[in-house]
Amino acid sequence: MLDLVDVHIHLPDYPNPGEVVRAARSTGTLLVSCTVKPAEAAANLALKQENHDMVRCFLGVHPSEARNEALSSGMAELAPLADGIGEIGLDPKYSDASRGSRQMEVFTDQLALAERLGKPVEVHSRGAEVSCLEVLSTFRLRAVLMHWFEGEEQLADVLSRGYYVSLGPAVLYSKKARRIASRLPEGSLLTESDGPVVYNALRGAGGPGLIPSVLFRLSEEKHTAFEEMSRMVRANATRFLGGG
Ligand SMILES: [Zn+2]
Repeated sequence: MLDLVDVHIHLPDYPNPGEVVRAARSTGTLLVSCTVKPAEAAANLALKQENHDMVRCFLGVHPSEARNEALSSGMAELAPLADGIGEIGLDPKYSDASRGSRQMEVFTDQLALAERLGKPVEVHSRGAEVSCLEVLSTFRLRAVLMHWFEGEEQLADVLSRGYYVSLGPAVLYSKKARRIASRLPEGSLLTESDGPVVYNALRGAGGPGLIPSVLFRLSEEKHTAFEEMSRMVRANATRFLGGG
């Protein structure tokens, strides 16, 4: 029985993804694994096929890779086998993300693919929240997750569109993440680790093992019992992934 959800993790970026899956199995954690580049697509799909009860597979080109990686026909061919498209988005930290840029082209190509296939998307929007939302509004998408979302000023817009927002270990140390948590309706909230990212503020801890702590912190924030919070997040994940 899977009770916990890590809706955003990069299994192909771990030296030993099988170990992470085994640990998550022992805590009953559903893993939604995203790629950052087409070269990871086949490995990510294989992890889902080998662990179909607890791993879901998203395929996408991250904004950090958009300069080097085209949305190769190979990935577009595999995309129908995936559960969704991600991690995709915009981030001016890596390269030009403005209209007409390569990054923007890669983002919009992948949104068009998600629209055509009727798949949910996981969006990285750091430093480009406004333009991400602008572009997203031009597509008819089945479901949208704003992962590790920090755009407090855009939060009302995000929620009015029915998008999901995932919060991770940052809620354990960041006031901003907690402010966002306090404003999220329970039906929009998901939990993530963004593993293999590690958190200096948590003495280098990271990965799906932190999900129970994140959930506990959120249940405190929402004045809800841990089990109830966990049930809600699980139901949100099922809806986001298209299972209900
Ligand atoms: Zn990520």
